Amino acid sequence: MFSKCLIGLFLFAFVVYVLKAIARLRFFINGTMGDVRRLRDQVQGRRDGGAEMVRCRVCGSFVASSEAVTIRGPRTNETFCSTECLKNLR
Ligand SMILES: [Zn+2]
Repeated sequence: MFSKCLIGLFLFAFVVYVLKAIARLRFFINGTMGDVRRLRDQVQGRRDGGAEMVRCRVCGSFVASSEAVTIRGPRTNETFCSTECLKNLR
């Protein structure tokens, strides 16, 4: 009689423990998903910025700013379609 009661108590404690663990896990997963979403937004935002076309200073062809070679100067940024054009300038 007493041992059954003890087992019941033990099972109850175990169930509570498992539920708490699941709740904590869910919280952790939500946090991780939030981080992933934030990271993905950042990447997509960068890609949106990369869709902008810039003109090569040497040959005049247009390239996506994500693929352009940009040299940050003190006043203006100089963009080139490739390192080849950058070499031609120098
Ligand atoms: Zn070029």
